[in-house]
Amino acid sequence: MAANSFRSATRHRHRDLVLSHDHTPRPFAANAKRRHEPQVQIDVRQEADAPVRALLVVAHPDDESECAALVYRITHELGGVVDQIVVTNGEGGHQYSALAEAYYRLPLNPDRDGQEALAGIRRDELIRAGRILGIRHHYFLDQKDTGPTLDPSAGLGDWDIATIRRQLQMLLGLEKYDLVLFLMPTPDTHGHHKTVAALALEALAGLETAERPAAVGVQTARTGTGQPENFSELEGYPLTRTTSPEPTWSFDRSTPLACHPAIEYSIVVNWVIAEHKSQGLFQMESGKRSHEHFWLFEAGGEAGSRRWREFLQLVGQTAAQEK
Ligand SMILES: [Zn+2]
Repeated sequence: MAANSFRSATRHRHRDLVLSHDHTPRPFAANAKRRHEPQVQIDVRQEADAPVRALLVVAHPDDESECAALVYRITHELGGVVDQIVVTNGEGGHQYSALAEAYYRLPLNPDRDGQEALAGIRRDELIRAGRILGIRHHYFLDQKDTGPTLDPSAGLGDWDIATIRRQLQMLLGLEKYDLVLFLMPTPDTHGHHKTVAALALEALAGLETAERPAAVGVQTARTGTGQPENFSELEGYPLTRTTSPEPTWSFDRSTPLACHPAIEYSIVVNWVIAEHKSQGLFQMESGKRSHEHFWLFEAGGEAGSRRWREFLQLVGQTAAQEK
């Protein structure tokens, strides 16, 4: 039962508060024991003594793959905790689902009434990916995925924004995360990614200044493409201002894992990508992304910057080898 992971007295009090509310996100116990699935022994300290506690806020099931190597590192090598909020059900991601229809033996295209089946499958895919990554709790906000757009205001019109805001505020207030991660709201990315970044930053900026986690955006890039494009702010959304146009840190997925010098983080990333079979083309593109780039946002303030520095120090102390 997921609630058992809230062990401290303080968290029990908060948990009761959370679970008594009608529209409060219920954590899904991603690591609950299931038959026929590998039970990985993970050094995860699930409580306040974890050296790093992170919340990943994403629009779609599969967005977590953008920072898969970092999440794995936090959960498996740093002894940290990562939770995830997924805003939409992902039913808009049917463009390349034809191959997966044969695998799942279900229609997944809306032309054949497959949207409900696709939403359920994407949720299962995400939970399996989350198991690989060691994600502690998934919070599904069940908003409609209205499909591809570049417009950051699309989600604001289509979703129950008041509920999303309330749930973000509640979780951030209760869990005292060190890091809040989201996909970079770059001009050419999905509009839902931009909306989610803006909402996460808004909730984070609503915390007391000393309580704010580091607000961190992630974007992957291919080998050979050099540094990613600079990002300072998404026009019209001043809360999306970064502390520096360049990434403040980059992680090479070909870095060896701590468990064996010949085994790289890219293997874990490929495991995660492979769980998202419904996304077809995604399999081809995401596997080519060799680096995870991270930007720090001003909304975290001094406390967020300090927490980010402490995190990088922690990574530096435990890194197998940076490239
Ligand atoms: Zn997405």
